[in-house]
Amino acid sequence: MDRLWTAAAGAGRLAEDLLGLVFPPRSEEGPLREHLPPFCRRCSAPGALLCPRCRESPPPFLWARASYRYSGAVKEAVLGLKYKRQIDRVPWLADLLETGFRTYAASIRWDALVPVPLHPVRERSRGFNQAEEIARVLGNRQGIPVRKALRRIRPTSAQAGLPGIERARNLAGAFQPQRNFDPVGKHLLLIDDVITTGATARECAARLWENGAGTVCVLTVARS
Ligand SMILES: [Zn+2]
Repeated sequence: MDRLWTAAAGAGRLAEDLLGLVFPPRSEEGPLREHLPPFCRRCSAPGALLCPRCRESPPPFLWARASYRYSGAVKEAVLGLKYKRQIDRVPWLADLLETGFRTYAASIRWDALVPVPLHPVRERSRGFNQAEEIARVLGNRQGIPVRKALRRIRPTSAQAGLPGIERARNLAGAFQPQRNFDPVGKHLLLIDDVITTGATARECAARLWENGAGTVCVLTVARS
């Protein structure tokens, strides 16, 4: 999968570079919308400098950032990848992720990119973990190893549609550190496709943080 996707990503980028000169990216769903400030400096929720949620309960990550808004062509691509197995969306989504990486994360020497894990049962039925796929393309381009530092030990009911507090409850204890990865002192960048309330990011970051990680930040393709 790795090598295949590195090659495909390379080819996709070349094609995109060439096409990009002629056809700017377009979508019937509307233009790409970058996720720009003002947003919470910790979790990047739109609005205040520090959102109410982060003020009441500081997150276990230093910051979470997203490249784009979860709308239009971005949403279409994320949903296509996750639910229609359109794995050819990976290189483009990785491009979007890389935009955010360059803006927010390029100044830090990351020890690893850590994809938010799926429960093994879901990963088997989907055939892949979308967060891991986009992380691998970014990791290859930026020369950063991808490490599966976490595992999901409990399947969780679908998060979409649950209010914030329910999401947090739904996720409590869902993740465990992977036994073969030592996070002590490491600068880790969690990668996911979409961040919504940040409940998943909080759970994952907490497990890394309490096991000794030096820095934990979060980067996603989109924020909904
Ligand atoms: Zn916040």
